[in-house]
Amino acid sequence: MLETVQITLLPSEIERFWSYVDIRSADDCWEWQGARSARGYGIFSAYGATQRTYRAHRVASAIAHGDTHKIILHKCNNPSCCNPKHLSPGTLSENTQQAIREGRWNPPRGERNGNAKLTANDVCTIRRLRDRGIPCKELAVRFGVSAKHISRVSSSKRWSHISPHNESLTTQQGTRHHDDHDRHNPNRRTDRTP
Ligand SMILES: [Zn+2]
Repeated sequence: MLETVQITLLPSEIERFWSYVDIRSADDCWEWQGARSARGYGIFSAYGATQRTYRAHRVASAIAHGDTHKIILHKCNNPSCCNPKHLSPGTLSENTQQAIREGRWNPPRGERNGNAKLTANDVCTIRRLRDRGIPCKELAVRFGVSAKHISRVSSSKRWSHISPHNESLTTQQGTRHHDDHDRHNPNRRTDRTP
């Protein structure tokens, strides 16, 4: 059973989408020139009637093949590639199996803990998208972290020390500890009811 996602774009949005793609010959990879996720997937923000963000390769596949499967596999193993010829719908297990075969499998970060690694670039992108009103929940899915973490990152509580040029910066191991700690001590507000 394949899960599907609805992707609805205005013609002007489709035109704008392709303007971000480095379209080459039929068999080459067509790399996304816009924002990318930590894992290298292109990110497309639609501004039209539906103000939403999508993984670029998924949009490319939806435009070219009309499919809206939740999982779109890269036959070329190049996450930023948007050449519809290199994209095909798959199931989660196929996707996982392909990742394992190709030695790039990591459990989704948001499932390991809510405080996964984000690059400084991700943080800048998250803040920009939050400013445009993209919900934390949506960004959480896209970046593979918890909505709480997105909220924290976008309000600069943890990432105030980063600059957009510091690409390789990631959270330290110890921060997970802090999160666990926070969860058990939510400012003790509940204890103070009269
Ligand atoms: Zn490709």
